[in-house]
Amino acid sequence: MSSSVPDRNQVLFERAQRVIPGGVNSPVRAFRAVGGTPRFIDRAQGPYMWDAAGQRYIDYIGSWGPMILGHGHPEVLEAVQRAAVEGFSFGAPTEREIELAEAIVAEVPSIEQVRLVSSGTEAGMSAIRLARGATGRSMIIKFEGCYHGHADALLVKAGSGLATFGHPTSAGVPPEVAQHTLVLEYNNVEQIEAAFAQHGDRIACVMIEPIAGNMNFVRAQVPFVARIRELCDRHGALFVFDEVMTGFRVALGSAQSLYAQAIPGFRPDISVFGKVIGGGMPLAAFGTTREVMKHLAPLGGVYQAGTLSGNPVATACGLATLRLIRQPGFFEALGAKTRTLVDGLAEAARAAGVPFVTDSQGGMFGFFFLPELPQHYQAVMTSDNARFNRFFHGLLDRGVYLAPALYEAGFVSAAHTDADIAATIEAAREVMRTL
Ligand code: PMP
Repeated sequence: MSSSVPDRNQVLFERAQRVIPGGVNSPVRAFRAVGGTPRFIDRAQGPYMWDAAGQRYIDYIGSWGPMILGHGHPEVLEAVQRAAVEGFSFGAPTEREIELAEAIVAEVPSIEQVRLVSSGTEAGMSAIRLARGATGRSMIIKFEGCYHGHADALLVKAGSGLATFGHPTSAGVPPEVAQHTLVLEYNNVEQIEAAFAQHGDRIACVMIEPIAGNMNFVRAQVPFVARIRELCDRHGALFVFDEVMTGFRVALGSAQSLYAQAIPGFRPDISVFGKVIGGGMPLAAFGTTREVMKHLAPLGGVYQAGTLSGNPVATACGLATLRLIRQPGFFEALGAKTRTLVDGLAEAARAAGVPFVTDSQGGMFGFFFLPELPQHYQAVMTSDNARFNRFFHGLLDRGVYLAPALYEAGFVSAAHTDADIAATIEAAREVMRTL
């Protein structure tokens, strides 16, 4: 495979930059962190994507998480096509929305009711508003390196693209809005205890990515999550699990099911979903108990709405996706495949004498050019960026598409074959030797 940048991608990138800021509609797509020309994708099927120059890639981004079945699964495609014929959007309730809500409620015991929206950002922003409305409090706590979408109150030292560009926060967010957001260190029990000791009766909610995929892959430690649960209970604050990335991706019951195994009776108060539940269509959700949901319009005074919320084509896509991933053994097989991949990458690094650690859960994985797994954002930041960039481009040249930034998790789909995983490990072996 050629290591030169395919011309057609370059041509499209230059054309795009004239009419689209940075040539992309979401910043990390621009390859700013890793350099080079972003690939413009023509089509995708199963675990593969083809760029505008006809180059094929094994896709480990999966649209940043949604494509858990791979691209163009025939049953999902058929459901979407049938739904599209019936109508694109009605702005009125449909049976399919009930079915999707019922599917989520059935798998996630902390949730009794669900409101469907169109993006993870919208879901996270609405969850915060609901938490504030339900508690009558303003302050929220989030953790450095966690990204919860680009709502003003949450763009405070967030990860993802922001971390990539090295900005601690976004321009255009008034300090008055950000002043209610307390940002603490991930996995730091002392800090959360101190925050509750000082502000306990003012805290509406604590929001967390249970496995932080926006600083690559960092697990919230069990004692940390257990302590937050206790503090929220004692002080009347709500615990919000942002499972936009982890939801229906790391386990059928989402990340919260893993914490429930480790912490008896554990449940978050509000959960936020996106990505997988839409199967690649614009769909997200937030869910909680009836008790909390009674504060949401039209039942209560917390306003939230959407022209395309519960869109019939998107819900058809999400439902077909959930139906397939609810089949027995799905997550065991996906988890085993993902472990084979990360074990192979780790072995390739070991053989080349490159410091490297990995972790994975279900169909989500991460890796760091570090001697041990980091526990928080500052530790993630010590990772070797230049080395990551060489690794990324080495694999891209060999037809393997990883996320174009050190701070992003990777995703394996059910469509990835053993041969795809083996080819990826072999490519990594070659590239590791050059690092
Ligand atoms: N929360 C998390 C944990 C996410 O990973 C993301 C997106 N990567 C969001 C929220 C925002 O979702 P969206 O991009 O759909 O607005």
